Amino acid sequence: MTAAGRDAELRERARRVIPGGLWGHLNAANLPPGYPQYFARAEGCRLWDVDGREVVDFMCSWGPVVLGHRHPAVEEAARRQAALGDCMNGPAPALVELAERLVGTIPHADWCLLSKNGTDATTACVTIARAGTGRRKVLVARGSYHGAVPWCSPSIAGVTTEDRAHLVFYDYNDIASVEAAAEAVKGDLAAIIVTAFRHDMARALELPDPGFAQALRALCDRESAALILDDVRAGFRLHLGGSWETLGVRPDLAAYSKAIANGHPLAAITGAEWLREAASKVYTTGSFWCGAVPMAAAIATLDELHRIDGPARMRTMGERLRAGLDTGAARHGIAVRQTGPAQMPLMLFEGDEGFRLGNAFCAAALAAGAYFHPRHNMFLSCAHTEADIDRALQAADVGFAAVAKLG
Ligand code: PMP
Repeated sequence: MTAAGRDAELRERARRVIPGGLWGHLNAANLPPGYPQYFARAEGCRLWDVDGREVVDFMCSWGPVVLGHRHPAVEEAARRQAALGDCMNGPAPALVELAERLVGTIPHADWCLLSKNGTDATTACVTIARAGTGRRKVLVARGSYHGAVPWCSPSIAGVTTEDRAHLVFYDYNDIASVEAAAEAVKGDLAAIIVTAFRHDMARALELPDPGFAQALRALCDRESAALILDDVRAGFRLHLGGSWETLGVRPDLAAYSKAIANGHPLAAITGAEWLREAASKVYTTGSFWCGAVPMAAAIATLDELHRIDGPARMRTMGERLRAGLDTGAARHGIAVRQTGPAQMPLMLFEGDEGFRLGNAFCAAALAAGAYFHPRHNMFLSCAHTEADIDRALQAADVGFAAVAKLG
């Protein structure tokens, strides 16, 4: 096997034994040509694929890696806990320490539960809201992603109408549509679930209007329903106390995962006092949910994010990237639109039917050493330095040149 063919060889073998080659969002079949599926190693903000190519990483495992791959303090904490025990007959003290840390630093949180995936956390929030209110209906923003189980999966394969019978849809940032949806289910409204910002795939990102966030809070107060903030994707990148802290709007329940343990598998549900009893009655569990290693990793991750003010650092680097991309695009006479928080940016090309330009940009930039995404928000980490951003901008320049050639 030549070095250049390792990824192709693994994909071919996977095709025979794994339906579709790979489940879910990490399937490289959805990426431009040349994107690797398999990786050999990762360090800081760098990734090496199985064919030995090194890139500056702007997906960070699609969110989990917030401090950088294999962060020494996190890995040391994980190793120390692993040497003592991980999956035991009950949790390690790290559970209580982490729960105290989350309740102590997330202002809306009076209690917390831990699980493994974002889907576990959003699903538990919905169930707890229903248990706590004795009602059924949940308002969901059209096109929002909340996980990979029947109530919220973007695919309808294997999903029954009944799985979604009690969802009512509204449009993000559109107060009138939320009011109308709430009116339609008056007396039976359990919750409104909302993401930290509008980050639907393949369209410009949209920050939440403060008035929209306040209207959701007021509506939930008026109807005695729960406001659920799905902070799975943005949590701990934008603000360490919850992504809507800057808007002055606090949810009743929040779902976290991705960045909480810098790549170790963990999710958290935080909640307000009035839902504590409901949370104690809902049956949430999993064979690995009390695993101690990810909890130790989470404590170290949160400590480090606080110590270095991770969100501010990522914002600064994200702004440098954004400014450089704007300059680079202008130099080539190309019109781009950059949206979203600087820590989780997206760049789209104006008038880019079918993402022809975005794909060409990404494919060329990848070959030149930067792993961008053409349609999904990207992720900065605290490991990105000015030198890394500048290195990536050189790769971006190769990408813009490829786009300019397409005319
Ligand atoms: N909510 C949001 C906003 C997400 O971005 C994701 C994952 N992309 C989820 C929920 C589900 O998380 P997981 O894939 O860990 O189940």
